[in-house]
Amino acid sequence: MTFRTVTILGATGSIGASTLDVIARHPQRYRVHALSAHSRMEQLAAQAEASQAAVVVVPDDAARQRFVDAWRGRARLPEIRVGAQALADTAADEASDTVMAAIVGAAGLPSALAAASAGKRVLLANKEALVVAGRLFMDAVRDNGAELLPIDSEHNAIFQCLPHGARASAAQAPAPGVRRLLLTASGGPFRTRPLDSLADVTPDQACAHPNWSMGRKISVDSATMLNKGLEVIEAHWLFAMPPERIDVVVHPQSVIHSMVEYDDGSVLAQLGHPDMRTPIAYGLAFPERIATGVGPLDLARLGRLDFEAPDLARFPCLRLAFEALRGGQGACVALNAANEVAVEAFLRGAAPYPAIAAIIETVLDGAWVRAADRLGSLEALLDLDREARARAGEALARSAGP
Ligand code: NAD
Ligand code: MG
Repeated sequence: MTFRTVTILGATGSIGASTLDVIARHPQRYRVHALSAHSRMEQLAAQAEASQAAVVVVPDDAARQRFVDAWRGRARLPEIRVGAQALADTAADEASDTVMAAIVGAAGLPSALAAASAGKRVLLANKEALVVAGRLFMDAVRDNGAELLPIDSEHNAIFQCLPHGARASAAQAPAPGVRRLLLTASGGPFRTRPLDSLADVTPDQACAHPNWSMGRKISVDSATMLNKGLEVIEAHWLFAMPPERIDVVVHPQSVIHSMVEYDDGSVLAQLGHPDMRTPIAYGLAFPERIATGVGPLDLARLGRLDFEAPDLARFPCLRLAFEALRGGQGACVALNAANEVAVEAFLRGAAPYPAIAAIIETVLDGAWVRAADRLGSLEALLDLDREARARAGEALARSAGP
């Protein structure tokens, strides 16, 4: 049994809270070093108290004050670090060996990369980091001897179905004997909704996922299936798999989390309840297995598992993601940035649902994306990310009319 000291980036989110839940079940195996959050300082204070975190990281001085206010009446205040540089420094902090990267969006890239560069065991939930910085991130894992455990349920399932040793290093080539990766997708809340009614869907409808309870951004991504597109790109980098050997199949029950097909025709699948504590625990304890509170799977009660091909007319974002992957790193940065801007606008009521795909398509469809080169550094990637966000903002303003 290995004792681990864990830092959770994005502790107050859905993945962060599930991670703390698993850790709390195994006090003899895990200690919490640091927790970060961008908002909800009351929740962060409660989490820091319960987990006895030594350090918390908050975005600015106002958040620091809110944390101190929320802490009143509790025992000794943890060390409070402030700002983006402190977040990256904490991810690389010597005091922890394991970092859960669970910030949402490209905002999580610098800290996730810092953890990889410091040679940590990185539990990667933040898929946008790999979409934006695939090569750079995988090189950092390899060059610094980091361990990379995929937490996204599909990638965790694939990882479980692949042959590997006791160490999770960066893949350099497709695993021998593997023909194809099969990502399952639930199809989200709008899988069967009449197409002509999609223009009117509300943020709450888009966030009402049939199987998973998640943060609002990834919930909207699941409704558009851009999430599956991001996951195809994520799988490409994690498993060094060419795009034409990654397929998506819609499986509405979300019981099979993904599959690996081998050259001999065998297909291995990982099944379980749709509960992120399972992949989180797998990453924390790898190569061991620990209890999570997730109950047994009652297949007889489930009765059936269904499958269908994804409908690209209903889910144009999935097509756009495959195009971005073939278009290269610049296109992937643009895809992700345009989506973050469009989803944020949709969630605050400033853009209708179909605008999400339209804005991504507009931003991707420019010579500027193809001209993007020299993306070998974090700075270059973040510059391109900023440019794509500006273009998405312009497309949004144009679509909103004069
Ligand atoms: P969430 O919105 O519930 O939580 C996000 C966390 O990140 C919060 O702690 C928030 O304070 C922090 N954060 C937000 N913006 C930030 C910023 N600019 N800088 C620093 N911190 C910031 O999100 P979630 O659903 O937990 O998802 C987290 C990541 O995990 C995403 O990349 C998502 O795609 C991925 N993921 C989530 C699930 C799931 O079941 N929720 C499943 C697979 C993958
Ligand atoms: Mg997933």
